[in-house]
Amino acid sequence: MPELPEVETVARDLHRAVTGATIRDATVHWDRTIRHPQPPERFVAEIAGATIRRVSRRAKTVLLHLEDGRVMTVALRMTGALLVVPEGTPADPYVRVAFALTDGRELRYRDIRKFGRIGLWPGGGLKSVGAGRGARSKRVAEDGRMYRIGEVFSGHGPEPLSSGFTVERLKARLGRRSAKLKTLLLDQSFIAGVGNIYADEALWRARLHPLRTADSLEEAEIRRLHRSIRKVLREGIANRGSSFSDYVSTDGEPGENAERLMVYRRTDQPCYRCGRPISRLVVAQRSTHFCPRCQPQPVASVGP
Ligand SMILES: [Zn+2]
Repeated sequence: MPELPEVETVARDLHRAVTGATIRDATVHWDRTIRHPQPPERFVAEIAGATIRRVSRRAKTVLLHLEDGRVMTVALRMTGALLVVPEGTPADPYVRVAFALTDGRELRYRDIRKFGRIGLWPGGGLKSVGAGRGARSKRVAEDGRMYRIGEVFSGHGPEPLSSGFTVERLKARLGRRSAKLKTLLLDQSFIAGVGNIYADEALWRARLHPLRTADSLEEAEIRRLHRSIRKVLREGIANRGSSFSDYVSTDGEPGENAERLMVYRRTDQPCYRCGRPISRLVVAQRSTHFCPRCQPQPVASVGP
């Protein structure tokens, strides 16, 4: 599943490719891809004629900002991809929504497993209202009420690469929580955009065992975790993402970060830091990779 670096790569590529382009028409081949507005015919009617002002990312979602202030969201989920193809490109059975651009090109949303969702929303602040406050529902009602774009992300935690994501902020969020680090990093309401790959990479880099609890971290460990999260994500972006499963960038090319991963899917291979074989365990139903020497097991706490 594409995580922050993969989605950021898609957004940057798309920004270069379609800024200033106008959508002439859209064709929906799979109705359930359209999340909002409903029905899909209404989505098609509302997107026609829209000009794309810029493309960005929030959490694991691509945002196409339109000239009139509205925002189209594309959540790629498992196998979604956005491709820009020249006029006359043969049809593709996995294209769920096709946007014909007035310049003749086509912006295609391709999705083999069909988990991805596209929405069109009124504009407004993208600032998350923060987990635990305001509307937390992850599901946005499909009724007549128009949700503003900020509400779509109201349940999401901070962006780890934003200037607001400081050591202090991470420390405050870890607080006295007894949740395991791996579980927390995967929780989108705790921190946005991190998934299984970058959670494992960040914990290895920070030399923290995935089963350590948030409240067991010392100041220096919180600093290491903060630095590590940002570093693995920045490196992932620099390498255009890790191409596991079906992630491809907008030109159809896989990312280059997979070969550079330190622990993810390296079970039994030597740790790049100490040479010990990498171990695997399952946390929160997700396969988790770590070095048993560099990331020591949490010791059972002894009462006072
Ligand atoms: Zn090691």
